[in-house]
Amino acid sequence: MSTAAPAKPRPACADEDPELFFPIGNTGPALLQIEEAKAVCRRCPLMESCLQGALDRTESGVWGGTDEADRRRMKRRAARQRAAA
Ligand code: SF4
Repeated sequence: MSTAAPAKPRPACADEDPELFFPIGNTGPALLQIEEAKAVCRRCPLMESCLQGALDRTESGVWGGTDEADRRRMKRRAARQRAAA
């Protein structure tokens, strides 16, 4: 019997420049940067939990394949669904 802990999934952003995930603004070159960061997230095994954490903490930047505007939309949609239930 092995006592070794199971290997934790490695975040896809581990080898990326952290600045990629924190664009300045959301126009012009920042749009391209946001899309590049989201592309990294899309190949990340931790995307769902990362997104949930960002929603819980109200993070800035790109997390879990979303930017701040995406997460604001998600929160508004969830609030509308709760209100309609
Ligand atoms: S989903 Fe989260 S952990 Fe994965 S690459 Fe994106 S920011 Fe990093």
